[in-house]
Amino acid sequence: MSNPGQLYVVATPIGNLEDMTPRALRILSQVDLIAAEDTRHSGRLLKHFGVASKTEALHEHNERSQVPRLIEILQSGKSIAFITDAGTPLISDPGFHLVRAARQAGLNVIPVPGACAAIAALSAAGLPSDRFVFEGFPPAKSAARRAVFEKLNEETRTLIFYESPHRILESLQDMLEIFGSEREAVIARELTKQFETVQGGALQKLCAWVNADKDQQLGEFVILIHGVPRSEREAVDADAERVLKILLQELPVSQATALAAKITGLKKNRLYDYALSIKQA
Ligand code: SAM
Repeated sequence: MSNPGQLYVVATPIGNLEDMTPRALRILSQVDLIAAEDTRHSGRLLKHFGVASKTEALHEHNERSQVPRLIEILQSGKSIAFITDAGTPLISDPGFHLVRAARQAGLNVIPVPGACAAIAALSAAGLPSDRFVFEGFPPAKSAARRAVFEKLNEETRTLIFYESPHRILESLQDMLEIFGSEREAVIARELTKQFETVQGGALQKLCAWVNADKDQQLGEFVILIHGVPRSEREAVDADAERVLKILLQELPVSQATALAAKITGLKKNRLYDYALSIKQA
């Protein structure tokens, strides 16, 4: 039996073709097959760089059905590179099922790193970058989107979102209402491209700025939100603990939690967990 082939997960540029790495080009030229999210889109990139390897489509609609065949190809000794339309595969992009299946089959999966919009944005945003949370695209419908933002409202790490031009204004408006008008944020638009803009400020100012200028509503966006400062969160936690302790002396957990939620404005679930830990202690 021949040795199994390698699966390469290859990043491609997010705008500027100079971000294509020499290693990515070498691997794309050497593999037996390039699985691409969109063969027509990637065809232009490959042609530009003179890469002539065979391509076939692997996108979110056919990924699950195609994976077993691709695994067989790898097991037969052939190598495959997987690319998406732009940036790093699997990051708000297809590829998860293929990579998981390959690893479960004991095959070698090799990352070939390069551009990723989230990381590029974070590297230039000037927001804390020691801890961050990548949230991908917020839900398209406002109610679901707001629910996601509500859950993240007390997150202390920097939040990173992707957003499309169709929803940039609505999303920013929901962020403003939930994270607060003074929360610091950064909008990174059209990174590595001609109209690259990285603009920071309080959400209120950023929203007004995007609203006032139609050009700022075009293109591709990463939105970064400053996490809640630890000291602020600790102060809120200390306050909630004090209120809960008093109420728990007089009331059962559920009632104490409900009242504490009204007094502090914090979510009942979180206070309930607190109340239980106070009781246990
Ligand atoms: N896998 C890609 C990556 O590594 O960044 C992301 C793919 S996702 C389908 C596309 C989204 O990424 C866009 O809607 C936008 O939010 C973000 N994005 C991609 N390229 C960008 C760029 N040049 N500038 C800003 N955001 C970008």
